[in-house]
Amino acid sequence: MDLLSKNIYYDSIGRRPPEVEICDVTLRDGEQTPGAAFTMDEKIRLAERLDEIGVEIIEAGFPVVSSVEKETIKRVAQLGLDAKICSLARSKREDVEIALDCDVDIISIFIATSDIHIEYKYHSRYETVRERALDTLEYAKSHGVVVRFAAEDATRTPIPRLKDIFLAAEARGADYVSIADTVGILTPATTEYLVSEIKDSVRKSELCIHCHDDLGMATANTITAAEAGVKQLHTTVNGIGERSGNAALEEVLLALRLEHGIDKYDLSRLTSLSRLVEECSGVKVASNKSIVGRNAFAHESGIHVAAILENPITYEAYPPELIGAERSFILGKHTGRRALLGVLKHMGYHDLSRDQLCELVDVIKECRERKQELNSDRLAELVKKVVKR
Ligand code: MN
Repeated sequence: MDLLSKNIYYDSIGRRPPEVEICDVTLRDGEQTPGAAFTMDEKIRLAERLDEIGVEIIEAGFPVVSSVEKETIKRVAQLGLDAKICSLARSKREDVEIALDCDVDIISIFIATSDIHIEYKYHSRYETVRERALDTLEYAKSHGVVVRFAAEDATRTPIPRLKDIFLAAEARGADYVSIADTVGILTPATTEYLVSEIKDSVRKSELCIHCHDDLGMATANTITAAEAGVKQLHTTVNGIGERSGNAALEEVLLALRLEHGIDKYDLSRLTSLSRLVEECSGVKVASNKSIVGRNAFAHESGIHVAAILENPITYEAYPPELIGAERSFILGKHTGRRALLGVLKHMGYHDLSRDQLCELVDVIKECRERKQELNSDRLAELVKKVVKR
């Protein structure tokens, strides 16, 4: 039996799997997580691990930040990875020059397009920032590099203006145009609407989506954008990033695998990469975090554990091995006799009587109601006590 749960409704909708590529921005936006900073060695290790998973593009950093950052991006670009390496640049020729110095494959030039940003950040007018951005783009293209042109705060920008600047960027050779939901206000419905509007105008360059998780919808919006025809999806490992973070790499990849059968990424490396990013960034993963949280495959309820012992697909969307994780059974207040029996068999105890099992279930419940820890050593002690009587 296929242990991957398929979303049967997609067959009714009749959607074909989207053609996508991942641009992982853990090393750039992820590093902008409050308090986070990666060393050069950490960035190199993380880039290698992202490459092993098969992400197509790695955004390595923002070289104007410091000379070490610039050197780090250069080193990542020289690793000879399969992934293309991308570097961020403001709409300034000097930023493009520094990015070119790093020998990256792609330069991502950004300009904020919303009135809010133009007034309070640039203290300027749309026409002025538009010209500056397009001039920078042309300058980068004259050096023969692949250019992504990103509209920052695109989702608080009127659609006609967004079309205007993307069309102008396309005319000047932008290879990609990118919609950045900078403050994370899209919903799946508005994502679909926005993408269909932009796709109507932008024909030559590929679309990108960069979603933030301020309302907890970054992954949903990213997947919706892919289904609406966006090619390049931006992610970070564990969803780290500015404020509430970005769309999580592991969530986007699992959604693509389960919902659309996209099988080109090595998902079995996701759990260990998550732990590495947790360690390097200092940002702890919540236990209930999708995919990589410690509880993602932990089962406590008696009903659930008993069913899982029959067949794990009953209460798991996919098996933990797919992402390099392990299943665990937690004994606690909701544990039932059958579940306990399964767990005990697992631990090598085969011959407890029905009465002994019932007694043990009661002891376990009491124990957890008093908030006492219940690891396997403690459980072994409890079993011995009950068996002796
Ligand atoms: Mn961002």
